Amino acid sequence: MTGNDHQPLTVAFDADDTLWHNEDLFQDVQREYEELLSPWADVETVADRLHEIQMTNLPRFGYGVKSFTLSMIEAAVRISGGEVDADRITAIIGYGKRLLDRPVELIDGVEEVLDALGHHRLMVITKGDVHDQLAKVAASGLAERFWRVEVVADKDATVYSELLERHGIDPSRFVMVGNSLRSDVLPVLELGATAVHVPYHVTWRHEEDHDGEDVEVPTLDGLRALPELLRAWDGDGELGPSLSGPAGMGGRYGMHPA
Ligand SMILES: [Mg+2]
Repeated sequence: MTGNDHQPLTVAFDADDTLWHNEDLFQDVQREYEELLSPWADVETVADRLHEIQMTNLPRFGYGVKSFTLSMIEAAVRISGGEVDADRITAIIGYGKRLLDRPVELIDGVEEVLDALGHHRLMVITKGDVHDQLAKVAASGLAERFWRVEVVADKDATVYSELLERHGIDPSRFVMVGNSLRSDVLPVLELGATAVHVPYHVTWRHEEDHDGEDVEVPTLDGLRALPELLRAWDGDGELGPSLSGPAGMGGRYGMHPA
């Protein structure tokens, strides 16, 4: 294939903690929750029990705030041995509503990066609750910049493969950008497509659960460095870190885990 007959580049973004802030408020809420249950257990026990119940519930409830809220309630009942009172349950339901009602706060540089990449086909691929995620896309003011918005139940290699197939995207012309190695990077690399890791300052425990510590993936300090990286890759019609490298990237580009 020469540079001229390439499919346009499709650049897909994760949403939570990539386009807008998310996990920071989950962690704030969890701290309040741990305090709420402090009459029955210490912080670490509450965190462990909640995580365990969330993971058990995941296949039933899927990802998202509503699922998290139900797991918080279930964990509260169990941790307290059935003693948790209606005021505390009401407080927990309030945590869920606070998460759902959070105004969308874009991550620094998102709009200018999307502007700079506007000549590519831009996508959102996010997992979680469809209603909540679509509401956030609508509230973000970014919706019309995207060629496609996909809310999926999970982000594994099978799901990505089906998405690329459905939209007729050549994996060699697909770049996924996101904060999670587990969800945004590893399954994409498995398909022979390209991924860019842009870490967020905090990560949900579940997203840390993967075997990809040693994977070599371009890692950016922030989204603002993305257009330059894509230009460097796309200049000769090929994608991938093997064709470029840290040289000349002004120190904003690195290979995870470096
Ligand atoms: Mg994310």
